[in-house]
Amino acid sequence: MSEKTFIILMGAPGAGKGTQAKLLQADFNLPQVSTGDLFRFNLKNETELGKLAKSYMDKGELVPDDVTVSMVEQRLAEGDCAGGAILDGFPRSAAQAEALDNLLDKMNSRVAVVPFVRVEQEILVARLLKRAELEGRADDNEETIRTRMRVYHESTAPLLDYYSAKGLVVEIDGDRPVEVVQAELKQIVESKN
Ligand code: AMP
Repeated sequence: MSEKTFIILMGAPGAGKGTQAKLLQADFNLPQVSTGDLFRFNLKNETELGKLAKSYMDKGELVPDDVTVSMVEQRLAEGDCAGGAILDGFPRSAAQAEALDNLLDKMNSRVAVVPFVRVEQEILVARLLKRAELEGRADDNEETIRTRMRVYHESTAPLLDYYSAKGLVVEIDGDRPVEVVQAELKQIVESKN
């Protein structure tokens, strides 16, 4: 096991990755690195990166890989990631997964485990529409949700094969109460730590 622990939380939009990643942070003293949150922070602060990301996010499309990868590279170089990180929403494409492998190689590290939070599509759409009401996220409208699901199936879901081939994927039933999913996730990470 390398000294750093990098966990990739996989799952479709609405599967609860963000909620679970936030809860895991304290248990393992690892920061959640959410590319969605990083983009939203840039958007709010009207940075150049935010302006660039906005058009893609509004449509539910992926922000280009080079932009996303260099943002993650900078984030992982920060001090709080010295022991690793919980990656939430990254990687989302084959190019991003390869870039992450190269990045971790350079740090003499590698991915420890890839928990996959599985939830059926109809439940996901219902959850996202509810989140739209509660949080008012601009990209939680029906049309964008449809695009995000398509992008997930086309670009992100194939990564499960990529990481399965490396023996890293552990599937979890995400259609259960948050605490139940959390307890199982914690055990999975502990067993790989
Ligand atoms: P999320 O909060 O993870 O659902 O991300 C919200 C939006 O941010 C996505 O629909 C994309 O437009 C963008 N985004 C987040 N993570 C990535 C990523 N790894 N690659 C490209 N775009 C991303």
